[in-house]
Amino acid sequence: MNQQKNCPNLLDFAEALLDDSRQVSIRMNGNSMFPTLKAGDVGTVEKCGVETLQVGDIVVFKSSGNLVAHRLVNITKTFDGIQFVTKGDHNSHMDTPFSADAILGKLSSYTRGKKIISVDSFRMKYLRYLSQHFSRFVIPLGSLRLLINHHSNQLVKSFVSIKDNLQFICKQSGNDLFANIVISILQGILPFLLIVCIKLLIDFLTQARGVSISENWSLIGWLIITALVFLINGVLSDIRGYYFEKLSQSISHRIYKKLHHKHDELDLSYYENPTEQDKIHRAVQEATFRPIKIVGEVLTFIKSIASALFLLVVFVAIKWYLVVMLFVAVVPGVLVRIKSSRKLYKLKAAQSTKEREMYYFNRVLTGFPFAKEMKLFGFSKFFLQRFSSAQQLLFDQKLELRRSELWLNISAQLFAIVLIFVSLVYVSYLKVSGVISIGTVVLFFFAFQRGYTVLNEFFRSITQILEDNIFLNDFIEFLHLPSKSDQKPIPTLPFSLKKEIRFEHVSFHYETSKRDALSAVDIVIPAGKTVAFVGANGSGKTTLIKLLCGFYPPNAGNILIDGVNVSQIGQAVIRENITAVFQDFALYNVSAASNIGLGDVSSDFDIERARKAARAAGIEDVLAKLPNGFHSLLGNLFVGGEELSIGQWQKLAIARAFYRNSPLLLMDEPSSALDANSELQIIDSLKELSKDKTAVIISHRLSTVKWADIIYLFHEGSVVESGSHNELLALGGKYFELYQVANSR
Ligand code: ADP
Repeated sequence: MNQQKNCPNLLDFAEALLDDSRQVSIRMNGNSMFPTLKAGDVGTVEKCGVETLQVGDIVVFKSSGNLVAHRLVNITKTFDGIQFVTKGDHNSHMDTPFSADAILGKLSSYTRGKKIISVDSFRMKYLRYLSQHFSRFVIPLGSLRLLINHHSNQLVKSFVSIKDNLQFICKQSGNDLFANIVISILQGILPFLLIVCIKLLIDFLTQARGVSISENWSLIGWLIITALVFLINGVLSDIRGYYFEKLSQSISHRIYKKLHHKHDELDLSYYENPTEQDKIHRAVQEATFRPIKIVGEVLTFIKSIASALFLLVVFVAIKWYLVVMLFVAVVPGVLVRIKSSRKLYKLKAAQSTKEREMYYFNRVLTGFPFAKEMKLFGFSKFFLQRFSSAQQLLFDQKLELRRSELWLNISAQLFAIVLIFVSLVYVSYLKVSGVISIGTVVLFFFAFQRGYTVLNEFFRSITQILEDNIFLNDFIEFLHLPSKSDQKPIPTLPFSLKKEIRFEHVSFHYETSKRDALSAVDIVIPAGKTVAFVGANGSGKTTLIKLLCGFYPPNAGNILIDGVNVSQIGQAVIRENITAVFQDFALYNVSAASNIGLGDVSSDFDIERARKAARAAGIEDVLAKLPNGFHSLLGNLFVGGEELSIGQWQKLAIARAFYRNSPLLLMDEPSSALDANSELQIIDSLKELSKDKTAVIISHRLSTVKWADIIYLFHEGSVVESGSHNELLALGGKYFELYQVANSR
């Protein structure tokens, strides 16, 4: 409650309840009363007479539209009435004085978990005493506890999320993970085993003077073992290289599958919302490498644990406290790294929008669709400048972060070097004093040098795992983005379009816009008829079609197909029964046959059906004349592709729509890129094809749609006229005006 959010109605409600002599329970939001109360506690408020209040009571009062529970520290009588001064037990500053009418009541008890603690309890009295007499100690102690609580909670949360994320990745890793773990353990142990072999060899040689090597079987045995360990150690990194590549490929394959699957089920609205696009951008970026990286780090962690355990045994055999020195030497560096990885994440998150902007400018500068205009108008400089300034800003911010870390890192390294130096001096002293052998000195030097690397690797892998995990969360969150269609009830009703599609008072606005794209639209599309939408740009025609496809649910009103609300039918079923050509149709750099066949992937590709669709769309001859006919690769993205004109691409999109044999045909400006002849041909095909179908056609050319059974005229999100072409002309309204303007040209 300390920072209860602005909610005047709730405040009024609480006040009314208290006036009615009832109790009110309020949950604490902040920690300004810590340690007396903490966030999550539920306080019970009781109405009280102002005259009964005493210094030390916890009062509940209104402050800038919020409800605050703080301790009363002063009551003064002034000419204007009584003034109250309060303070949070955890705060060092006093609140602004307020008068009696701001007070709602006082706290009589509070609940923490299942425990109810009354103000008369020992704990409350004791805390009241402390806060009144020792606030200078209570505040720092309280802060320390909060700080420790905060960091330990964060650590626990991090570990839980690492565990979950690793579990998720392990599931994507297949069987290769086990092989990689075994190799990592071996890689951790073998270098140290080698050092031990060398130590034993040196000790052996210093003791076994005067004996010929060929007669000394133990020595030969040691030499062979050392050589073997050397060999295995050498080849292990190659073996690891192979198995890690295998593991990476298997993770990458599965992660991409998940990524693409999620994109497939994501609602269209996510792609139209800049904030969501930032999230998607981060997720896609991270998904391409982060899961593999985190697995690599976990394997390094396992390797360094194996090394560290071995190292511990070696150090205990020499002097155990040397390992403590080694440990202390690396800790500052680790702390610096943990801090910087958090900062890096925050920076990356803040940079998402700018980064997307930079990628966008790069796409404009390097992408084919922009090349023509860019060369003709010569505006590359404009985008170069935008790209460079975005890039410079991102670089500068990152450099600034690195600069701030640099001194901390150097200090941590200096600290480590001093400790290592002291240890080396100490071990030299032990040798000179005859406490340890020369073999042990060699062992120590090697072990210390390797140990420093291992411990660094150990902590580095932990900090890297923490860092990777923060970034990976973006991807995991993306995978859990709810699809709005998921929230709908399970579809139970089948699709049937025998009577009509009815829009009842349908209103809609895009998430990113405050304006209504559609407002209270009431129209009927009778089954088996052809309906046309006409109207100025931006009047809502395409939006209506998008709603019909189930890309977005309406904000108000209903869309009924034969009396059944589309929300009850289920999107997959609806989309199975719809075919469409969109204004911004897509060009696929695959074969012409595939371009058409993509219209119906639910059944095997049928070339005859594809030819028929191509014929109806007026593109059959063009495709037949290509070097490989229908099997020619289209587009100029790949070698051997045949580029089509934009009008031909549009015909291909129409052929794709015709290929799908659905009862409902939606065409949004299907002839915008077509020449007059082609348009006439498409209209004839449409008339033919839509005989036994329900069709909706959007066009700004009235000539394209005047044959439609019903024409709806859209104006600023509403339908303002409807009827057949002749009826609308007879009406002499807006349609008539449009028709006259079109004919006067
Ligand atoms: P029409 O098809 O009649 O040209 P639309 O249905 O495409 O018009 O657009 C209707 C209104 O919705 C316009 O004001 C347009 O700016 C807005 N709009 C269209 N698409 C989006 C979108 N993805 N996000 C936000 N607003 C949009």
